[in-house]
Amino acid sequence: MAFYLLRVPQRDLETFAHSLSNLKKLTKICKICHNLTDQEQCSICSDPSRDPTQVCVVESFQDVLAIEKAGSYPGVYHVLHGSISPLNNIGPDELYIETLVKRVKQGIVKEIILATNTNLEGEATALYIKQALDGHKTEISRIGRGLPTGVEIEYADDQTLVQALLTRKSI
Ligand SMILES: [Zn+2]
Repeated sequence: MAFYLLRVPQRDLETFAHSLSNLKKLTKICKICHNLTDQEQCSICSDPSRDPTQVCVVESFQDVLAIEKAGSYPGVYHVLHGSISPLNNIGPDELYIETLVKRVKQGIVKEIILATNTNLEGEATALYIKQALDGHKTEISRIGRGLPTGVEIEYADDQTLVQALLTRKSI
């Protein structure tokens, strides 16, 4: 990286250095969905054209970017910031699951789409959330056909993601 930066013009380098030093200062976490933002609420949560009754639950903000890039999802998100992974000492309390339950309790959310990765941790996380939301009147679905087992959402191609969201099924 240092070798690459040595070839960048000085002015660009200074702009880059300035942005870099502000990266953490200006980056906030959306108070509703926990996506990255520079405001109190992210651009998706504050967009009136998005459907707040449909919430897609993902592990990371990279997953939000991937689904947004695919461009056919009309709802909003909930970013967990990881997945349940006993091997890495990450339990449900380390993730934003409690705030998801709170969002559902508020009564606006009609459908939860569990779009965690299709690996072991992602499946365990989806199952845990389904159980945590048991008894609430919200429809819960899991992303469907299209995503091979073990694949990470972030690296799936656009068409596969569109298919996976369209063919979600109740769990
Ligand atoms: Zn948000």
